[in-house]
Amino acid sequence: MQVLEPLEPGVILWAGRDSLDEIRSLGVRCGQLAIPGDMPLTPAAVEEWKAAVARTDFTLVTVFAAYDGESYADAATVQRTVGFIPPATRAEREQRTFAISDFAAALGVASIACHIGFVPHDSSDPEYIAVREVVRRVCDHAARHGQTFALETGQEPAAILLAFIRDVNRPNLRINFDPANMILYGTGDPVEALRALGEYVVSVHAKDGDWPDPKSSRGLGAEKPLGQGAVGMERFVSTLADIGFRGPLNVEREVEDQSQRLREIKGGIELLQKINRQK
Ligand code: MG
Repeated sequence: MQVLEPLEPGVILWAGRDSLDEIRSLGVRCGQLAIPGDMPLTPAAVEEWKAAVARTDFTLVTVFAAYDGESYADAATVQRTVGFIPPATRAEREQRTFAISDFAAALGVASIACHIGFVPHDSSDPEYIAVREVVRRVCDHAARHGQTFALETGQEPAAILLAFIRDVNRPNLRINFDPANMILYGTGDPVEALRALGEYVVSVHAKDGDWPDPKSSRGLGAEKPLGQGAVGMERFVSTLADIGFRGPLNVEREVEDQSQRLREIKGGIELLQKINRQK
């Protein structure tokens, strides 16, 4: 298996949307695989991805779970639909996450991740307690495969996430740090958050975006191509190096048009390569 360079550019790709050959042709050899909520996790799917990874010599560092019925249209919809927060889908999404962990294990991937949604701020709230218990059970399931379970940042301030992680109290609970989400959701300066959460960060997204427009009711900023938003990629990458993070920088870009998306991912990879050369 290939050895990755510290802070090597990678990509977060979607099963069913991206092919590994296509992603590999952008000039990366590692990344994270996101699985849509409706994708059947069959033995055939395992074999298909195993073969694709071997053929392209691609290193998967994380398998990401998304869930059926999630929408990121605006902050209120995220609150209502994303992760383990909606009570009606909590149990089925817990089972789905166990299945994602098993799928990742079959591919030899040592980390799973997801957005758990907006963590309630009040730790005595029964909803908070229910979500904490789901996260504990997912951690315990993942631990049996020797995996970490990473929570994606951004939907709550760093201090709330830190308190939640300490409360869950599982040694394999980690963070997938997405600096743009901190900005898009208006939850704090990403570099300060990265310093506060650093010891838990197992993987990162290289994504950019602008702060929410205070005049808009959407409550969510706009995602931008890497280098064109408010994150400050040089500062983000140098802070990662400072805190001793050595994993890949997984470029994330979510736009409808696939050719625009691939073009902008490629631009992001080139930006990160340039930043790495200047270090
Ligand atoms: Mg992300």
